[in-house]
Amino acid sequence: MSFYTLPEQIKLLKKKDISSRELTQIYIDQINKYNQSINALISFDADKVLAQADQADKIIANNESTSLTGIPIVHKDNLCTKDFMTTAGSRILKDFVPPYNAHVVQQTINAGMISIGKASCDEFAMGSTNETSYFGRVLNPYCFKHVPGGSSGGSGAAVAANFAPLATGSDTGGSVRQPASFCNLTGLKPTYGLVSRFGLIAFASSLDQVGPMARSAFDCAHLMDVISGYDPKDSTSSKHKKISFVKTINQMSPKKLTIGIPRQLDDIKFDSSVMKSFENTINTFKQLGHEIKSINLNTLKYAVPAYYVIAPAEAASNLSRYNGSLYGHRAESNTLDEMYKKTRSQGFGNEVKRRILVGNFVLSKGFQGQYYEKALNVKTLFAHEFSNLFEDIDFIITPTTSSKPLTFNHFSDPVKLYETDALTIPANLVGLPAVSFQGGFDGDLPIGIQLIGRKYSDPELLSAVHHFQQHTDFHLQQPKMK
Ligand code: GLN
Repeated sequence: MSFYTLPEQIKLLKKKDISSRELTQIYIDQINKYNQSINALISFDADKVLAQADQADKIIANNESTSLTGIPIVHKDNLCTKDFMTTAGSRILKDFVPPYNAHVVQQTINAGMISIGKASCDEFAMGSTNETSYFGRVLNPYCFKHVPGGSSGGSGAAVAANFAPLATGSDTGGSVRQPASFCNLTGLKPTYGLVSRFGLIAFASSLDQVGPMARSAFDCAHLMDVISGYDPKDSTSSKHKKISFVKTINQMSPKKLTIGIPRQLDDIKFDSSVMKSFENTINTFKQLGHEIKSINLNTLKYAVPAYYVIAPAEAASNLSRYNGSLYGHRAESNTLDEMYKKTRSQGFGNEVKRRILVGNFVLSKGFQGQYYEKALNVKTLFAHEFSNLFEDIDFIITPTTSSKPLTFNHFSDPVKLYETDALTIPANLVGLPAVSFQGGFDGDLPIGIQLIGRKYSDPELLSAVHHFQQHTDFHLQQPKMK
C-alpha cells in the first residue's frame, strides 16, 4: 500500500478531494493491522479519533482550516493529554488520566490536527531502545528483529509504520534523533526553550525538549510551525521571535554552508556501514557546493559522563513526586512510609531505579563537588567550545549514533548503552538545535546523520536537510514490515 506524503495530504484536504475522516481511516486501518505486532501505540481509541476527524471536516467545510487541519499525529506518551491516559511508559502512571493537555498537544488540537494515539516510550524517557517501557517491546518496522531506538521509539515506529505522518517525541540526550535514525525518519531536537515543556512529564528539565519526527525535514517544518513559540506557562520558554519554518524552507535559496567534522570522531568505534553512510553524506554535501572542514570538539569525551550525572540528578528530584499520594499507582500499605517504599518499588522499573539511585548519590552531601559540580563545568566547557566553533562554521556534522539499529537485549552492561549517546548529548547540554536525517542503509536497516547548529538556527538546519533530501531518496524508502 502506498501512502500520501504530508504535502499531498495537505493539498488533497485543501481541495476537498479527500476528507479528514477518509484520510484518518487509512491510518486507523494500518494501526488495526500492525499495532498488535509492532506495539508502537500504548493507547488508541478509533471512535474518539474519528470524532476528531469529523470536527476537522467541519472546520475545512467552513474554510477555516490551517495547513495541518485534519492531519493525524501521534503523541509520545509522556505528553499529557486531557481525559486520555498518559503513562510515560511506566507502571507507576499506568492509569493516570491528566486533567489538562500539554501545550504542544493543545497547539496541535488548536490547529485542527487529529491525535490518533499515544506512543510507547522508554520509562520516563530513560533509555535508547524502548525496552524499558512497562508496556513491552516495540519492533522496528524496517526489521522486526531490531529495536526502534529510544526513548521516543514508539513515536519513531508509529511514523515509520504509517500510523500517522507526524509524531512528537522528547529529547533529553538524543531521544528524538536516535529513534529517528533507527526508523528512517527526520527528527529535530529544537533549541532549548523554542517548544514549551508545559505538560511534558519531566525527566531532566534543563535538557528536555519536545521535537517533531516525520519522514522529511519539510514535514518536520510544518509541525514546528504549530508547536513552537513562547508559552508563559513554561518559565524556560523562549521569547525569541517566532519564524515560520515552512516559509523559511520555501523562500531560502540554498546558500553555501561551512560544515565542520570533529576530529574526535576518530576516537569512537563506529559500525562500518555507519561510517560509509557518513562519508557518502559528506560527499553529497560537497557536491551540493558546501564546504567541509575538520574541527576540534575536545570536550566530546566528557559528554556521556557529564550527562549521566546531570540527567539522573534532575530525574531523582523530578521523580520524587511519584509516591502513591498524588498520581497513579498506590501500593496497599499500613503506614505512610511503607506506602512510599512499596509504591516506588513496585511502580518503577530497574532503569528508572538505577537513575534515581545515581541521582541521589551524586547530589548527596559531600559528593556534590566530586560529581555534580564537575558535570556542570563540562556544560560550560561545551558552551565555550561550541560558541567559538560557530564563529567560523554554520553546522557540525556527525553520525547520529555509532551503530545501526540494535538488536533486542544487545548490551548486558547499561554503561555500554549509555556510551552510544555520545554524539547526541552535547546539543542537549548546551541547548543547541540538532537534527537527525536519513543517510543510508545497511541492508534493510536505516542509518541516520546529525547536523548541529547554533542557537535558533533550527529553520536553517531543516532547510539544509530539505535541500539534501531533494537530491537523495533514502527518506522515501518504506519499511518492509517484517
Ligand atoms: N538515551 C538517553 C537516556 O537514556 C537519552 C534519553 C532521552 O533523550 N530522553 O538518558
